[in-house]
Amino acid sequence: MRDLQHLRLDRDERGVATVTFDVRGTPLNVFNDEVIGELRTVIDELERDPPRVVVFKSGKSSGFFAGADVNRIQQLETPDEVRVVIDAGHDVFDRIEHLPCPTVAVIHGPCLGGGLEFALSCRHRIARDDSSTKFGLPEVTLGLIPGWGGTQRLPRLVGLRESLRIILEGANFNASKAAAAGLVDVAAPPEVFDATVSHFIDDRLTGRSVRKPSHGILDTLLDGTWPGNAVVLATARRRIEKRGRDYPALPAALRAIEAGLHSPGAAGFEAEREEFVGVVFTPVARSLIGLFFQRERARKPSTWVRGTKPSPVQKAAVVGAGTMGAGIAQLLAFNDIPVVLKDINDEIVAGGMKKIASLTDAAVSKSLLTREAGDAVVGRITPTSTWEPLAGCDLVIEAVVEREDIKRTVFGELAERLPSAVLASNTSALSVTRIADTTPNAERVAGLHFFNPVHRMQLVEVVRGKASNDATIATLVELVRKLGKVPVVVADSPGFLVNRTLFPYLDEAVRLVIEGVPGEEVDRAAVRFGMPMGPLELLDQIGVDIAADVAKTFAALSSDVGPAPARFAEMVKDGALGKKSGHGFYDYRGDRRGKPTKWATSKHPHSVPDNAERGELSDVQKRLMYPMINEAAKCLEAGVVPEAWVADLAMVLGTGFAPFRGGPLRTADSLGVARVVQELETLRAEHGQRFEPARLLRKMADEGHGFYTETVPAVAHV
Ligand code: NAD
Repeated sequence: MRDLQHLRLDRDERGVATVTFDVRGTPLNVFNDEVIGELRTVIDELERDPPRVVVFKSGKSSGFFAGADVNRIQQLETPDEVRVVIDAGHDVFDRIEHLPCPTVAVIHGPCLGGGLEFALSCRHRIARDDSSTKFGLPEVTLGLIPGWGGTQRLPRLVGLRESLRIILEGANFNASKAAAAGLVDVAAPPEVFDATVSHFIDDRLTGRSVRKPSHGILDTLLDGTWPGNAVVLATARRRIEKRGRDYPALPAALRAIEAGLHSPGAAGFEAEREEFVGVVFTPVARSLIGLFFQRERARKPSTWVRGTKPSPVQKAAVVGAGTMGAGIAQLLAFNDIPVVLKDINDEIVAGGMKKIASLTDAAVSKSLLTREAGDAVVGRITPTSTWEPLAGCDLVIEAVVEREDIKRTVFGELAERLPSAVLASNTSALSVTRIADTTPNAERVAGLHFFNPVHRMQLVEVVRGKASNDATIATLVELVRKLGKVPVVVADSPGFLVNRTLFPYLDEAVRLVIEGVPGEEVDRAAVRFGMPMGPLELLDQIGVDIAADVAKTFAALSSDVGPAPARFAEMVKDGALGKKSGHGFYDYRGDRRGKPTKWATSKHPHSVPDNAERGELSDVQKRLMYPMINEAAKCLEAGVVPEAWVADLAMVLGTGFAPFRGGPLRTADSLGVARVVQELETLRAEHGQRFEPARLLRKMADEGHGFYTETVPAVAHV
C-alpha cells in the first residue's frame, strides 16, 4: 500500500484491522479530497484481504471528526464539481457499509457533519461519554444539507422523527442522548472507555449479537409504517414552512429524507446529491458559510493584535452581582477561572450567587456538567462585599449600574488596589476612555461588552479605549476565546458597534407605534425580514429602563431626537419595564407573551399596507432596517470596526440579525448599494434628516461597488 499521510492501517494477530485518522495540518480531523482518497486506498486493501473486524478511530485527542472541510465546499464552482465530491463520499461510505465484516467507529470528542455520516456507514458506533463528545449534522446551519448519506442512513438507524429533529435543527447532542436515540450502540464514561471498547471488539470477534433498544408502540407506528411516516412528514413540512422560505436547505433536506424512504438505495442517494447541488450555490448558503469563516477569523487572535502576547488570567474579579455580573462570574468559573464576586452588600451578593447556582443547575440538568463539576463551578466563586478578597486578581470586570459617575469611582478604587491588573468595563454605551481617565494606568483599561444572557450569547465586544494598549486587548481577546465566545475588537464610540447600530432600529419601531402603526404589525414586519423577534418585544426583554438609559446616551449625540426617549421615560414612570415587570409593550402576566399593552397600540391606529413583493422590503421593513444598514455603514466609515465583515458578524451574533442575509452590510450588497442610497433619500424626504445616507454609502454607490463585491448591480434580489 502506498504511503499514507493522514491515515494508518494496523492489523493484529486476532484479525482486527484498526484505521487511525490523524489528518495532517488541522487541529481536528476533517474530510477533504486527500483524506477521502486515502480512505479509498485503505478500503481497497480491506476488500482485497478482509479482516474479522475493522475499527475506525481518531489519533487526535481533540476528537473524532469535525466534518467535511468547509473551505473545499466554498471552492466548488459548478454543479458537476459538486457531484464529483458528493459521489466520492457516497462511494467510499457505501463500500464501508458493505464490507463483509463488522465495522466499529470508536468516537471521542466532536463527531459532526461528514464525520457522523462516515460513522453512520459503520455497522457499530461506540462513544466516550463526557462533555467533549458531541454528535450532530449541522449542515443546515451553513445553508446546506447532509450530502454524504446522512439523510438516508440516519432515518434508518434512529427512526424518522429523531432524524428529522437532528437534521432540521442542526443542533449538537451528547453521547448519552446518542445512545438513547440508538445512534450509538454503547456510551461509556471515560474511566472505562478503553476497556469497554476492547470488550466490544472481543464480542464482535466471537460473533455475539448487539442488543438493540426496544421501541414502543408509538415509535413503531410513526417510524415504522407508511401511514405513520406520512403523518410525521406532513407535520415536519408544516413546521418548517415559514422558515423554509428563508432557509431553502430545510425543505431540501426534508425532500431528500422523503426520497430515501420512498426509494431506499441508489435513487435515495442520488436525490440527496441533487438536493445538495440545489442549495450549495444559493445566496443563503453563501451568507451562512461566509459567517462561518468570519467567526473563525474573529476567534484568531492575530486578526486583532499581532506580536503581543496575552497574559493568562489566573484569578478574576467581577464587581457588580446583578444580571450581567452573575452571568459573567458563572461563565468564568465554568471555564475553570477562580472568581471573586463583589457587590455593595452581602444580601445583594447572595442574590447573585443564587442566580449562579440556578444557571449551573440548568447546565447540570442539560448534562453539560456532572453534579460534582457543577458544585465545583459554584465553589470557584468567592462572594464578598469587601475589597480584600480581590487581592492578587489579574483581571477585574466591572458590571455595576450604567452610570458614569459610579463606574468612575469604582475604577478609581480598583486602580489603587490592583495597580497591575487589567480592568474591563461591561458598559453598554458609556465611554471607556472617560472611565479610564480616573486611573493612572489607562493603558490597562478597556471595555468587555457581554450580551444578555451571558451563557447563551456568543459575541463579546472588546472595546479599545484611546489609551488601551495591545497587551490589554490581546489578554481580553484570548480570555474571550477561552470562554468559548467570539471576540470582536471595536473602537470606543457611544454604544460601540452593536448597540449603536441596533438603537436606530429600536428607536424607529417606537416612532412607528407613536405614529399609530399597531405594535404587532411593526414586530411582524421585522420577524418577516428574518429577525428572531420584533423590536418592541426585544425592548421588553432588554428592559425599558435600560433602553431609557441607553437612549439618553444617544440623545446627547443626536441632532434628531425623536419622541422615543420621552416615551421610554413615561413607561418607566408607569412601571412598564418590559418582561421583568410583567408588562411593557406587551403583557407578560400570563404564561406566554400576551396582548400588546396601551404602549403598543393607538387610539387612531393606521396600518401600513404590507406591500412587499416577493424579495422586496415592505414600507415598515424599510423604515426599520434601513436605519440599521445606514448606521453600520457609519460605524465602518468612522473606524468603529476595521472591515465590513466585523459589523456583519457582530450584528448576527449580537442581535440575531437575519443570519441568512449575512448581516446588514451584506444585505446592502444584496439590495444594491445604489438602491439603498436612493431609498434612504426618499425616507429622508418623508421622515427627516435621520435617514441621511452615510457618506460611505454614497461614495460606494457613486463608484458602483459593494461591501463585499467589486461590482454590484444597482438592483438585485434579496
Ligand atoms: P443590574 O442592575 O442587574 O446590576 C448592577 C449591580 O451593580 C447591582 O447588583 C448593584 O448593587 C451593583 N452595584 C452598584 N454600584 C456598585 C458598586 N459601587 N460596587 C459594586 N457593585 C455595585 O445591572 P446589569 O443589567 O447587570 O448591568 C450591569 C452593567 O452591564 C451595566 O453597565 C449595563 O449597561 C451593562 N449591560 C447590561 C446588559 C443587560 O442586558 N442587562 C447587557 C450588556 C451590558
